[in-house]
Amino acid sequence: MAKTIRLILGDQLNENHSWYEEVDDEVIYTLMEIRPESEYVTHHIQKIVGIFLGMRTFAEWLRRAGHQVKYWKITDDENEHDFIKNIKTLIDEASAELVEYQEPDEWRLDRLLAEGLSELDIEHHMVSSEHFYTERAELEEMFRDKKSYLMETFYRKMRQQHDVLMDDGDPVSGKWNYDKENRKKLPNKITVPQPRLYSHDVSDILSEINEAGLDSIGHIDESAFIWPKNRKEALEVLEYFVSDLLDGFGTYQDAMSVEEWSVFHCRLSFAMNTKMISPREVVDAVERAYFDREGDLHLSHVEGFIRQILGWREYMRGLYWAKMPDYAEQNHFGHDRALPSYYWTGDTQMKCLSCAISQSLDYSYAHHIQRLMVTGNFALLTGVDPDEVDQWYLGIYIDAFEWVEITNTRGMSQYADGGIVGTKPYVSSGSYINKMSDYCRSCHYDHKEKVGDKACPFNSLYWNFLDRHRDKLSNNPRMSMMYRVWDKMDNQEELLQQAKYYLDHIEEL
Ligand SMILES: Cc1cc2nc3c(=O)[nH]c(=O)nc-3n(C[C@H](O)[C@H](O)[C@H](O)COP(=O)(O)OP(=O)(O)OC[C@H]3O[C@@H](n4cnc5c(N)ncnc54)[C@H](O)[C@@H]3O)c2cc1C
Ligand code: SF4
Repeated sequence: MAKTIRLILGDQLNENHSWYEEVDDEVIYTLMEIRPESEYVTHHIQKIVGIFLGMRTFAEWLRRAGHQVKYWKITDDENEHDFIKNIKTLIDEASAELVEYQEPDEWRLDRLLAEGLSELDIEHHMVSSEHFYTERAELEEMFRDKKSYLMETFYRKMRQQHDVLMDDGDPVSGKWNYDKENRKKLPNKITVPQPRLYSHDVSDILSEINEAGLDSIGHIDESAFIWPKNRKEALEVLEYFVSDLLDGFGTYQDAMSVEEWSVFHCRLSFAMNTKMISPREVVDAVERAYFDREGDLHLSHVEGFIRQILGWREYMRGLYWAKMPDYAEQNHFGHDRALPSYYWTGDTQMKCLSCAISQSLDYSYAHHIQRLMVTGNFALLTGVDPDEVDQWYLGIYIDAFEWVEITNTRGMSQYADGGIVGTKPYVSSGSYINKMSDYCRSCHYDHKEKVGDKACPFNSLYWNFLDRHRDKLSNNPRMSMMYRVWDKMDNQEELLQQAKYYLDHIEEL
């Protein structure tokens, strides 16, 4: 093989990639901690540390396996903080004739590498990251020219194609979807097993981040970093999920609680999105548990979980590549408000928001319903600019990478794409949050009150949202019932006044 440079991005920590099957002295692997990548939004400190720790651990793994590695730390003097410039330095030093890289998951990086390498006048190839169920070309075929493509259709196709939970061409037990059974609140007396956490000492990385002057949000314990740092640990988190949490996953998938920050969720999104572990391994482990436990593990948990990965995760990636770069500009409702300052502190009297935001600052994690029906719901009801909402989600969560963040945030949560991901906006009044959580019990506001000092802000803001966007939503068949309810209400004026007061005093809520 000609002398070759192979670039590994920070979310490409896939030990099973075919690149590493053989040791070749002609190949130099390179990983780079690049300042603009750490600064294009303000990231949670656990996200920066988690990625650097994962990259450094991966480089060590490569070295131990006998591969040649050039690692660029954030504080290295020779680091030019530019992928192309660093690659050029390596090409010159090693007299390399070929550059290879794995397909980036992010549209911006895809362009940057393709264009930058073309200018270097060296042979270069992009190869598969060998992580997802679907290759990019396959996705392009599936999503081509489709204005809308239902997730459910995609998911069933994936189940059939990959033979997951199938029985001779039909879904196991005859049903594709168990969503309706998966919507329970946490009972008072339930014991939720504690999440599987690590306590990595990351003080060295932290001091280098400080030395480099990288800005960040959120909290971190420098002697007890909780997230997995490599494949071995990711597999341990998976094993723990399957043995201790899976049988509560489905039933309590949408439940929220003051006491529990991750409930029965797997907390594997960071490990999967950095490719420490593959979606196929996760799905296979869960499917295997279903068949091994012979009737002991209800299909609703297993199907509910597999749908998230084989369905939603792959589907969002398909949409991302089909709709970018225009997707990042979508703002269906023309929203333009700034995100309230308590999104960076958790300092609000609304218990649901204060819990969801505080735990996000503490752990760089919130589960799906907290992201969708608390922080996302409030941002949508109050008309926050989707750019601001995107930047917040992209920064605060350890699992946030644009391909899966923007489709969830701008699409599913903010309906800024006008209905590509969701068939209607995910908005609710306080009664949904009360139904799915114990937040309202200890809140300053009253979820039953619609007007007055103690009225839950979600209530009037919900009706105000519907009223404000009547022209865009009233023809949507899934919204028409709510418009009929609104039209019959005799306290419309009071509700709109209450909402106006809350919007005018949004920082004081
Ligand atoms: C506004 C908003 C922003 C989000 N941003 C991200 C993000 O940046 N990165 C990210 O990975 N997920 C994102 N999600 C999806 C989901 O909230 C997270 O994947 C999940 O909370 C991660 O926690 P977990 O690993 O414990 O997941 P679990 O709830 O245990 O689910 C298992 C796995 O399913 C996958 N999954 C579940 N829901 C989705 C979904 N809607 N889209 C894609 N994959 C899904 C994830 O890989 C997850 O690890 C977002 C959701 C919303 C509503
Ligand atoms: S009363 Fe309203 S603001 Fe308070 S926790 Fe419940 S939904 Fe949230």
